[in-house]
Amino acid sequence: MAASAPFRIVHTVCSHDCPDSCAVLVTVNEEGRAVKVEGDPSQPVTRGFLCGKVAKYLDRVYASDRVLYPLRRKAGVAKGPLQRGSEHESYERVSWDEALDAIAVRLKEIADRYGPESILPYSYAGTIGVLGYGSMDRRFFHRLGASQLDRTICSEAGGQAWNLVYGRKFGTPTEDVRLAKLIIAWGANIHGNNIHLWPFVEEARRNGARLIVIDPYRTRTAAVADWHIAIRPGTDAALALGMMHVILNEGLEDRAYIEEMTHGFELLAERAREYTPERVAAWTGMTAAEIEQLAREYATTRPAMLRLNYGVQRSQNGGTAVRAIAMLPALTGAWKHRGGGGQLSTSGAFQWDKKALERPDLALASPIGRLARVVNMSELGRALTELGSRAEDGPAVHALFVYSSNPGAIAPNHNAVCRGLMRDDLFTVVHEQFFTDTTDYADYILPATTFLEHTDVQGAYGHYFVQLSMQAIEPPGDARSNVWLFGRLAQRMGFTEACFRDTPEEMIRQALSIGEDGHSKKANMEHITFEDLEREGHIPLAFHRDGLRPFTSGRVATPSGKIEFFSETLAAAGQDGLPNFVPPFESRWGETAKKYPLELLARKSDNYMNSTFANLPGHRKMEARTSQKLEIHPVDAELRGVVEGERVRVFNDRGSLELTAMLNASLPAGVVAARLDWAKLHPDGANINALTSERLTDIGGGATFYSTLVEVAKTVGGES
Ligand code: SF4
Repeated sequence: MAASAPFRIVHTVCSHDCPDSCAVLVTVNEEGRAVKVEGDPSQPVTRGFLCGKVAKYLDRVYASDRVLYPLRRKAGVAKGPLQRGSEHESYERVSWDEALDAIAVRLKEIADRYGPESILPYSYAGTIGVLGYGSMDRRFFHRLGASQLDRTICSEAGGQAWNLVYGRKFGTPTEDVRLAKLIIAWGANIHGNNIHLWPFVEEARRNGARLIVIDPYRTRTAAVADWHIAIRPGTDAALALGMMHVILNEGLEDRAYIEEMTHGFELLAERAREYTPERVAAWTGMTAAEIEQLAREYATTRPAMLRLNYGVQRSQNGGTAVRAIAMLPALTGAWKHRGGGGQLSTSGAFQWDKKALERPDLALASPIGRLARVVNMSELGRALTELGSRAEDGPAVHALFVYSSNPGAIAPNHNAVCRGLMRDDLFTVVHEQFFTDTTDYADYILPATTFLEHTDVQGAYGHYFVQLSMQAIEPPGDARSNVWLFGRLAQRMGFTEACFRDTPEEMIRQALSIGEDGHSKKANMEHITFEDLEREGHIPLAFHRDGLRPFTSGRVATPSGKIEFFSETLAAAGQDGLPNFVPPFESRWGETAKKYPLELLARKSDNYMNSTFANLPGHRKMEARTSQKLEIHPVDAELRGVVEGERVRVFNDRGSLELTAMLNASLPAGVVAARLDWAKLHPDGANINALTSERLTDIGGGATFYSTLVEVAKTVGGES
């Protein structure tokens, strides 16, 4: 961006899976080495600082154990967990040419023999750069005819639920939160994973706002809140409906707003009547008086801001929970007041030209001549071990191509996933930056770039700025980006379409719909050009630049054109058009609780990004207090004769994990918590996903990490 020899400062964007999408200034010395990363002070949400995870990012970029060259599994080396630090012994270095040729030959063989749908891509948000997340890779797999991956593992349940109510995933601008007088963080650990919202929360609090946190776990955010409500996992929908009951009972709803902007109010009011505070108290563990207080405070404070994050939707009924919570600001008219309203995500405001980027039309040129079958990534264990056994499901998976993800750590039902990955007849390629739980099963490991080493463009799901991330440094070793990898592999496969030779800059222009391909410009982004981004680094979306606020007037992007309390779409699909509380199958109300009575919160670690960063010593140190611990309420511990610091076995029918007991009286009784880590860094070679299931959420087919029942027993001499 700016040049002042001997140093250059380059504008990049943190592409880790975080709402903040920080503008990161990278200082590069005359040898081309990055020597400093810092938040861009001119970006209105980044405001000059980075989180603890990325502030020391150069430790990661220049880590001595980065995968730097393409690697091929040595002949005769079995797949499966490798001892950390010795992975290289199982692989031999090959050139990119050798690797790409061999992979292309093998993919062609598999496609010819079993059909191209037997090839499964597996990726998620290892990078959320627009090109890195989904562009050349999608072109490649569409043209190949490979199975399509339904990317449900993180946000799909909540996203679809929000869209059922509001049509598009966006909400209150982050910068406006400073004006709120009440902030409810619902399943949102702002301090842990949305830190750039925090200064706005603090500013609001300095001006008299109260912060209420609703979360079964006492997060960093909950610990500093004015009121922490530790509801039982999976009961959020009941609480939202209980709040509606009180609001309507006391006439605190905004009738004028409801009349003008919403659809289905009378039906919702009838449903909410069933949710008396007493009934809701029995589910949530709150008192009826607390539910009334919460509802009254929410409905009578203006502006009232609801920050909802993706924790809520990781329960079996998580889609409905998000739907119900999302309706609250529409019931009280909170959108009308600047600083009020709600935010789950802002990503729906960015109108990238995905068709141009992903080219689904290429599927017509594939051997199957149509869009391929869809495989849900939250059911990877099942996909690898069961697909192919019923003719109607299509072929078994014979090749797995993993990039921007680490399913050996993050996918639910870890043991089933590993059984699948162990298959000798499964050809596995992994594009990665480090040796992970997944690379241990790879036939080929390909070195991947970090966001400092490639060019991309990025939106955000926690603000409204389009940002350009310029390549700051040369990739170390032979690391290459997703765009480079899939473009080159496509050419090796003999795909002659010109789009496989597009450069990142050309693709960014396509994403912005300003190329020469006839795609129309989009209202919110039509003022943004590649050249502007090169000059400015970050540019607000038009509606944000103009200070417009969502859901204050006009048509909403739902079928009715209104904010939907009642969904005709769900009703037409034979589902309940209204929100309702149905306890998760794996919860204290289910049959399974007789055998496994404890509800497990299979949490993300505060100092990692899902599984990213877990291998770095500095990050592990920050996470040490809770790493490989089982947090358990003292009453539950005593019932099992467990004391602080004792080794315990946590188990259910899917798996078992040994952890160290850590008493935590702030958890609701009957709830235990543990954090995601790499399986290969645990003596058992497993992580909390050994306990989680492949059961799906009620909306969106998402993973249900927070609907997991377990039992806990003392471990004596290594045996329980
Ligand atoms: S992880 Fe999030 S908060 Fe940290 S630097 Fe990246 S975008 Fe910013």
